[in-house]
Amino acid sequence: MTTQRRLPPEVKEKLLEALRVGVAKGYGYVKIWRMLKENGVEVSISTVRNYYYKNFPEKLKRRGRCLPRELRIKLYQKVLELRRQGLGYKRIKKKIEELCNVSLSISTISRWCRKICSPHNGCRVPSVKFLEPSPELSQVIGTVAGDGFATKKNGNEYVIGARVKDGDLIEEFSRCLGKVLGRDPPRPRQEKDGAFVVEVESKALYELLRKPIDINRIAPFVEHCEECMRRFARSFFDSEGSVDKDGKIRCYNSDLQLLQYVRKILNILGIRTTRPKICTKKGTAFFDRRRGKTYTAKKDVYRICVRMSDVLRFYQRIGFTIQRKQKRLEEYLRKRGLL
Ligand SMILES: [Zn+2]
Repeated sequence: MTTQRRLPPEVKEKLLEALRVGVAKGYGYVKIWRMLKENGVEVSISTVRNYYYKNFPEKLKRRGRCLPRELRIKLYQKVLELRRQGLGYKRIKKKIEELCNVSLSISTISRWCRKICSPHNGCRVPSVKFLEPSPELSQVIGTVAGDGFATKKNGNEYVIGARVKDGDLIEEFSRCLGKVLGRDPPRPRQEKDGAFVVEVESKALYELLRKPIDINRIAPFVEHCEECMRRFARSFFDSEGSVDKDGKIRCYNSDLQLLQYVRKILNILGIRTTRPKICTKKGTAFFDRRRGKTYTAKKDVYRICVRMSDVLRFYQRIGFTIQRKQKRLEEYLRKRGLL
């Protein structure tokens, strides 16, 4: 910390007077400092700036104002596109004004074009509109819809992730998240009970995946192509599905609408399932072996089963990422001579 020298009272008075007059005329602190200098008042520019923001704090807010990131990223992409077409900075500025009704400074355009800075600042996917359909995104949707969470912390921190038992599943989830968000895969952490957790900050994925899952929002991504549907179904069954030694594949969830949607996707892929049935009523106590605790079901839990005639098709077209489930399914199919 530097000790601040007190201004002589007559200088201070002149400074305050100049600020009042200057601000009324809409001057910035540099112009006011110059005005003072011309009148023979010796005071440093930083002193003028400090007094300026102390006495007129609303100016600080104006200084910090900028366009929302989503809009800036759109403008950035447009600027780069125009640059590629061979336009100069001035013409880009004019074109952006015509197209987007936004006035960008030449220096911003120049810094963007020279890749000195960009509005991404480590965030390549600022909102749902910037998400591209891909098998990886479908996989993320399926996992979060099943075992995952999407929460808002402290008003503006958006976190999504999943907590799962199997290392192979979490690795795949993490890889897909990295691909979707254009970043390095987040590192999973292991909790005391052995479960793996991966979480990332992403407003876009939060908007897409907050619960209850909005089917209309996820549908365009999930139904993008057959591979996307397959990956969604597989990751959902990885999280919520089970297979026993008799080859019965079951899937559980408390969100009836979501289960109906999963059924629809499976049906498109040629796999029929039974209608959802309540298997745990709200208020039922049950024992969680993994955590060694008794819980009470907060919601009704529903179950669907893959029809026995379609189990082989499920294996061929969907399968499990989780090896222990996949192996159990293979054992059953081998035993039945189907594999
Ligand atoms: Zn696709």
